[in-house]
Amino acid sequence: MKNIYDYPRESLEDYFVSINEKKFKATQVYEWLYEKRNSDVNSWSNIKKDIRDKILKDFSFDSIEISKVEKDDLTRKYLFKLNDFEKIEAVLMMHDYGTSICVSSQVGCNMGCAFCESGRLKKVRNLETYEMVEQILLVEKEANVRIDSVVIMGIGEPLDNYDNVINFIKIINDAKGIAIGARHITVSTCGLIPKIKEFMKLPLQVNLAISLHASNNELRSRIMNVNKAYNIYDLIACIKEYIQYTNRRVTIEYVMLDNVNDNESNALELAELLKGMNVYVNLIPYNETNHLEFKRSSKNRIFKFYDILKQNKINVTIRKEFGGKISAACGQLRSKEVK
Ligand code: SAH
Repeated sequence: MKNIYDYPRESLEDYFVSINEKKFKATQVYEWLYEKRNSDVNSWSNIKKDIRDKILKDFSFDSIEISKVEKDDLTRKYLFKLNDFEKIEAVLMMHDYGTSICVSSQVGCNMGCAFCESGRLKKVRNLETYEMVEQILLVEKEANVRIDSVVIMGIGEPLDNYDNVINFIKIINDAKGIAIGARHITVSTCGLIPKIKEFMKLPLQVNLAISLHASNNELRSRIMNVNKAYNIYDLIACIKEYIQYTNRRVTIEYVMLDNVNDNESNALELAELLKGMNVYVNLIPYNETNHLEFKRSSKNRIFKFYDILKQNKINVTIRKEFGGKISAACGQLRSKEVK
């Protein structure tokens, strides 16, 4: 039985049509679930008793649970327990321009990036749509905030859980759902080319971020397994196609690994690779993990890298850091718990 929070509004409309009810019942249900945040079906006063009974019979209302919260001034890190006792995490960040949340898309990850803590624990399963939606609902309730933007950059590779992630985006983007504007939703991928091409054709105006992290093929294969399947040059060609098709700027993520990918020669190579593309590069200070062979680049090296990109007319920013004190870095909380 599917969870009620798995359903984009159009699918819920199909459901009501299938039981000979009016489509707009779906909108009423959405108002209860997402506007009023009330999942007590028997209190849904504008829906008749026989339909409420049917809803209760046809859908599950199971919820994931918050099992731990770590806090500092601007960040809260949540560990969730799923109904099969698996653990995932999400991070809430308070920026001066609003709140954002980083959500997980899978239990573990199979992409095998050498520097990443999440991938240390192999994928157990995909998250269901409701398990992504509820990360947002539960965090908003716990922190008593409304979330302004969502990045799908927690544990997992979102495009490796394509259908559930798309349904999740539809629900959070729906004006009657969680109502987060498409421009405030970002999907981050390590570069699954066929899925990026599928994704670009969808009528969703969400942002795409690509975890590039390297300036040439050999280096990328060394630190990102996925590059052996989809190499950097094909990926760049795919990003160009995406930009052309969607007319949207793409974010290039580049995690700064000391003496691995942060030399001046890498900066020059990267500038060459991205020349003329409508992208901006986000340099990410590495959060050190148990992968002891990788260290964070010094501030000086990051600034130098930044300057070279700037001089070569590449849009670039350095990511502001959050939650360093509370293991808010990329899969660390779960990894600590599961070990
Ligand atoms: N699988 C997706 C989304 C999850 S990872 C992807 O690869 O994009 C989100 C981002 O965090 C990726 O850019 C990833 O490379 C980066 N990342 C992983 N471990 C990190 C660490 N220890 N410090 C900083 N960034 C990290």
